[in-house]
Amino acid sequence: MARNKLRPVIIVCGIALIVVYYWLDPCTWWTPKCPFKLWTGYSCPACGAQRALHAALHLDFYAAVRCNLFLIIGLPYLSAAVVSHLSGRRYAVTLRRIVASKPIVWSYLFMFFIWWIVRNILQM
Ligand SMILES: [Zn+2]
Repeated sequence: MARNKLRPVIIVCGIALIVVYYWLDPCTWWTPKCPFKLWTGYSCPACGAQRALHAALHLDFYAAVRCNLFLIIGLPYLSAAVVSHLSGRRYAVTLRRIVASKPIVWSYLFMFFIWWIVRNILQM
C-alpha cells in the first residue's frame, strides 16, 4: 500500500534529478561533495557518479566510464531494481525476484567492494 502512495513521488523526484543533472554540469555548479573523500582522501564507490550521470545523459559514455566505471556497469542492475519496485505490472514481480535473489545481490555487493578497492589502488 505504501509503495502505491510513494510511487508518484519517487517517479517525480527521479525525473527531477535527471533534468537537474542533464542541465547542470557538476564540474561547474555547486553539487554535494563526497564526505568520505573529504575526510579520508580516498574515493568511495560513488565518487564521480554525478559527473558520470551528467556525461551519460549527454550520451558521452566514454566520459561517463572515466568518471565512474562502476555506475555505468551497475546501471542496468540499478535500473532493473528501481523499475521492479516501482512498477505494479506482472513482469515486475519476476524482475524483483531476480534482482533481489541472493546470487545477484551478493555478486553486486562483491563487485561494489572490489571496485572500491581497485579504484583507490589505481587512482581512478
Ligand atoms: Zn565518494
